[in-house]
Amino acid sequence: MLGLMQDRPLLISSLIEFAALYHGDVEVVSRTVEGPIHRYTYADAHQRSKQLAQVLISMGIESGDRVATLAWNGYRHLECYYGVSGMGAVLHTINPRLFPEQIAYIANHADDRIILTDLTFVPLLEAIADQLTNIEAIIILTDQAHMPETSLPNVHCYETLLDGQNGDFEWPSFDEKTASSLCYTSGTTGNPKGVLYSHRSTLLHSFSSTSQDVIGLCSRDTILPVVPMFHVNSWGIAYTAAMCGAKLVLPGMGMDGASLYELLDGEKVTVSAGVPTIWLMLLQYLSENDKKLPHMDRTVIGGSAAPVSMIETFENDYDVTVVHAWGMTEMSPLGTTGNMKPKMDNWSYEDRLAMKCKQGRAVYGVDMKITDDDGNELPRDGKAFGHLMVRGPWITTGYFKGEGGAMLDDGDWFDTGDVATLDPEGFMQITDRSKDVIKSGGEWISSIDLENIAVGHPGVAEAAVIGIAHPKWDERPLLIIVRGEDSTVEGAEILDFMKGKIASWWMPDDVTFVDEIPHTATGKIQKLRLREQFKDYTLPTA
Ligand code: ADP
Repeated sequence: MLGLMQDRPLLISSLIEFAALYHGDVEVVSRTVEGPIHRYTYADAHQRSKQLAQVLISMGIESGDRVATLAWNGYRHLECYYGVSGMGAVLHTINPRLFPEQIAYIANHADDRIILTDLTFVPLLEAIADQLTNIEAIIILTDQAHMPETSLPNVHCYETLLDGQNGDFEWPSFDEKTASSLCYTSGTTGNPKGVLYSHRSTLLHSFSSTSQDVIGLCSRDTILPVVPMFHVNSWGIAYTAAMCGAKLVLPGMGMDGASLYELLDGEKVTVSAGVPTIWLMLLQYLSENDKKLPHMDRTVIGGSAAPVSMIETFENDYDVTVVHAWGMTEMSPLGTTGNMKPKMDNWSYEDRLAMKCKQGRAVYGVDMKITDDDGNELPRDGKAFGHLMVRGPWITTGYFKGEGGAMLDDGDWFDTGDVATLDPEGFMQITDRSKDVIKSGGEWISSIDLENIAVGHPGVAEAAVIGIAHPKWDERPLLIIVRGEDSTVEGAEILDFMKGKIASWWMPDDVTFVDEIPHTATGKIQKLRLREQFKDYTLPTA
């Protein structure tokens, strides 16, 4: 017997419609590419999103067509989020930090018909224009006064196009499983692959984010997503903020400490979200300028492991609760958040901190387990580590156009490529990427654990650990260090510092120093390049 409840589709347009109706006076504040701070309301955002939908329809865009953006976090990008997906087309948010050839590749692979771009990326588009095979028009996200001289063909001014429409538009209704947006993963190997979200997956992910045990976003909050709208939909925040009517502060290209502080303080931001490197810059600015964060309640840190020193500084020096989070493009992205359970209030400081350093517990909607190489489930004892497998309604079934082949096993489990432990409290801790784990004498050594401990040494700015071939043990760890400014620290001192913090057989066999460690477009260490760079390295123990 089926229930007798309405089957209303979960559509992205309903988010902005709701925000305009019930939180119509709530502000969306943006640092613009042109310079000034721009303010308007959810009601304005809704009206202009409808005008954009009219523009796209007038240009022949139909349901399912891909429309791309190359843009920072700003109000016009927000209008693209709602205007494009709302009318039934697919918003393809291109990550401008990818290499130009990769951008051309993904725009072609996605069959993007139109690109909406910030002024910043006009030169980038000019450089790859002759490689773009499907683009029919380029819309520059600015007004007539700021339109640049450009060699790009078929260029339009966003504000002029919007001015030509009256916004008298009803959002269409369609199947909630319709594709809504497309993000390509940066892909450490091979070409980037597309993850295609649906209206349904996006809304379910947003419902989850608003829950207290996840991000807990509500109408009393002011949220500043530092995480870019071109990287996994700014972790869903552009949608979640509208769902609950939270004031939204969009930092544009101002990711430096001073610019972020200006908005965090001036707009009385209560919640923020971003990757550790951004917070490192902010914390440095705060300490150098003797500033505090009196309005801020919590910050979500993910994308890479939040270092213990960062968690302690936020919580002890600035009274900002750290919510350590983990996820990935393929998961919309949220999988776990590290909100403490009530019983942990009585735990010792050290035990609580150890929990905060873990990536958090599964949010409702994400099933998680760890398995060995043969697919057998491993115990949730906080010690065994294995392949982290997930499934749920906002997790991908496979990449766009079938790239990479079938992605799920018989039970619908998706292999995240992460290696992790799960403890009896349900907290997950990433110990490695499966490609990076070091296999020594048949046992696994976590490169991430070693890196985290090494960066705790005051003379170390950054650390990376890779496995080097060893005649007896198969692989042994090599510790690669970027010294801090003015530091003269030597390898032996760092190893001495690590003693007692890890099992003795995990100790790196050697330490080497470099000026720079290579990173991906999303700020992750490029282990593949390091392995290439050190492929002929001989360990002293070999
Ligand atoms: P990319 O586009 O680089 O793949 P993703 O955001 O999809 O970017 O990257 C997801 C991966 O980032 C995860 O599989 C995991 O390895 C890593 N990651 C994300 N959050 C954390 C975290 N809190 N701690 C450690 N690693 C993390």
